[in-house]
Amino acid sequence: MTRSTPPTGTQEELLGRYDHALLGVFGRPGRVLVRGEGCEVWDADGNRYLDLLAGIAVNALGHAHPDLVAALREQVGEFVHVSNFFTTVPQIALAERLLDVAGAPEGSAVFFTNSGTESIEAAVKLARRTGRPRILAAEGAFHGRSTGALALTARAAYREPFEPLLPGVGRVPFGDVDALERALSGTAGESVSALVLEPIQGESGVVPADVEYLRRARDLTSAAGVLLVLDEIQTGIGRTGAWFAFQRAGIVPDAITLAKGLAGGVPIGALVTFGSQVTGLLRKGDHGTTFGGNPLACRAGLTVLDVVERDGLVDHAGEMEREFRSRVQALGDDRLTEVRGAGLLLGLGLAEGIVAADVAAAALEAGYVVNAARPDTIRLAPPLVVTAEQLGRFVDDLPRLLDTAARREG
Ligand SMILES: *Cc1c(COP(=O)(O)O)cnc(C)c1O
Repeated sequence: MTRSTPPTGTQEELLGRYDHALLGVFGRPGRVLVRGEGCEVWDADGNRYLDLLAGIAVNALGHAHPDLVAALREQVGEFVHVSNFFTTVPQIALAERLLDVAGAPEGSAVFFTNSGTESIEAAVKLARRTGRPRILAAEGAFHGRSTGALALTARAAYREPFEPLLPGVGRVPFGDVDALERALSGTAGESVSALVLEPIQGESGVVPADVEYLRRARDLTSAAGVLLVLDEIQTGIGRTGAWFAFQRAGIVPDAITLAKGLAGGVPIGALVTFGSQVTGLLRKGDHGTTFGGNPLACRAGLTVLDVVERDGLVDHAGEMEREFRSRVQALGDDRLTEVRGAGLLLGLGLAEGIVAADVAAAALEAGYVVNAARPDTIRLAPPLVVTAEQLGRFVDDLPRLLDTAARREG
């Protein structure tokens, strides 16, 4: 019997092979990881790391969670894919559970995809069905890298080399109610189908919209007959201390996009449409996908929702935020300027002269996985199962990591 054994070797050897075999879009990865357990991962040289990034807010249950392992083992033994000519029990059950935790009204519905960017594509098609040609997105927004979603993403360096992209995208300053009011008024407003917003801009450095802005955005879009689409790909599934960030603002959007944390690392995404009027915009034949909604990913999603609920991880995320904030405050290190974000999506602001990439590099050397989301911000998005002890250990080490980072610049 032939068997494909995973390659082994030292980290240096493996990274050399990576450079030869993989397209260079990500640059050279920081480490070759071989396994994980809970909030820890190990590299090919046997070093251990505390994972405070969770594969960018994806591994909600950490690594190798026993319930997820058991559910996936069982599902693999049944089937992993059947196509959308058929449905499966995990698919139906996950859609129902999502609508339930979202508090979605009667007539709401779910379309499953395989990624965040595909969920945005589905939202773009939903918006197109209103018959209005334009979509508004925010400055600083990140909505994905496919050429439709990329048109909504703000960063010029991501977009410009690949233009022309999807036309008809207008941009509003993030958090500016007056600018939004102007963009949605008069004949300009009449051409807008949807406003797409992240409740907290994750990729551009953990920048939260304040609750009042989200409420006004809801009022203004409703008044203008414009769909409010909230991109909860990073903020959804308990990450911010609520099932969804929109619930923290006490509003009901017209649609949300999901992905990252939904299935604990198995690729999945979703568009959830709220209410029968919005749901009715996409009809039979309007959209499709081969892999989207497959039983493996849906079973994983169902298990994530079960464990998050059973173990109280939504509230736990809120408690860990308070814990982290008070520990950082107690540290009293003036090189740390602020903590932004909510729940377990947190941005740690750095004083001038401290470079986030240097801090992230020093952290990795010291055994912590974090991310430099912005030159002046470290992003933490740990598994929702992270403990106060684990967060505290990182905070206690921060002064030393900042010293190391300062030496790199000096
Ligand atoms: C990650 C992310 C996306 C893109 O998701 P992919 O799965 O990488 O395509 C879109 N929007 C937000 C807010 C994200 O954080």
